[in-house]
Amino acid sequence: MGVEFIFNVHFSFMTLEDLHNKLIALGAKPAHYGHFYRALFGVVPWPASDDQRFPKKLREALPATQREVDRVLEVVSTHQGEEEASLKLLFKLQDGHTIESVLLPREGVCVSTQVGCAVGCVFCMTGQSGLIRQLSDMEIVAQVIAAKKLRPDTRKVVFMGMGEPSHNLRNVLSAIDFLGTYSQIPHKNLVLSTVGDHRVFDALKTSKVKPALAISLHSTIEEKRARLLPRASKISVLALITQAESYARATGYPIQYQWTLMKGVNDGDDELANIEKLLAGKYAVMNFIPVNAVAGSSFIRPDWDRCREMAVVLKRSRILAKFRHSAAQDVEGGCGQLRSRYLKEMGAGNDKCVF
Ligand code: SF4
Repeated sequence: MGVEFIFNVHFSFMTLEDLHNKLIALGAKPAHYGHFYRALFGVVPWPASDDQRFPKKLREALPATQREVDRVLEVVSTHQGEEEASLKLLFKLQDGHTIESVLLPREGVCVSTQVGCAVGCVFCMTGQSGLIRQLSDMEIVAQVIAAKKLRPDTRKVVFMGMGEPSHNLRNVLSAIDFLGTYSQIPHKNLVLSTVGDHRVFDALKTSKVKPALAISLHSTIEEKRARLLPRASKISVLALITQAESYARATGYPIQYQWTLMKGVNDGDDELANIEKLLAGKYAVMNFIPVNAVAGSSFIRPDWDRCREMAVVLKRSRILAKFRHSAAQDVEGGCGQLRSRYLKEMGAGNDKCVF
């Protein structure tokens, strides 16, 4: 059966609401479904089949319900990184689409929020396929459940995999609410990463669980940023930083600015001067990530001397700058690369963009 055929079949994807309604229909009260949800993350043991605290109908149905949750994602392959304790996971969804997650060093997992992505960042493999479809909140949570099974000490979730969370905001916030309520992962360790959108800041004002925020900045110059992130929401750099700063002060978590560093593109003194002006005195960290090699792309990383120079300049303005490797780079860990290789092997090419 060809992959293309699988993609054309209509599927309805399990949502957290579906799961909840199912448990309620089986007679679950808040203590029962709360226990079931915590057990999904290994926080509490599964109820025994003779545990009288659970209604009989519910007890009998729990193993099948657990299997249903397990079927949301299927691990297609795992790829161990060489340099860092990272593990790249390729998952197949029930309709045959694939997504990537990465188990990160220091007890973190990076999850996807969409199949493909509409933003189209010029340095990103995922951006080249466009948006294929949204992930349901259950599909996002299922990546964390899978991570917890492989590494029970997982205690940080970063929403930085395939997709732009602000383009699937309802499902991402629902997943964050669920994780913050049942997984025992501290709220400050749920890191929502976005290119920026007024709707994100509006929604976070009223959300019960307050995640930490990472902002993909990449340039301080409006025209250049629009070229690098062609379909990001229209919000000025200044408005973005102003809103982010007010969220950081309200929550007590610093903003993590993300900057994919490309030689001759955004590593110049003009950008550095702007970063100093915009971020001096802000409650923020600047994460520079030297660009990943993407097939067919001409972007290259600056050398480490230039990186050091940049850090020194920013330090003068008391801006903390970190230079990071993208986890699992050595196993095609750049966003979307593993999935792209899988699709080629399956003879499917890139999926069709529906955005
Ligand atoms: S870097 Fe992120 S926002 Fe940009 S295209 Fe890739 S997945 Fe989308």
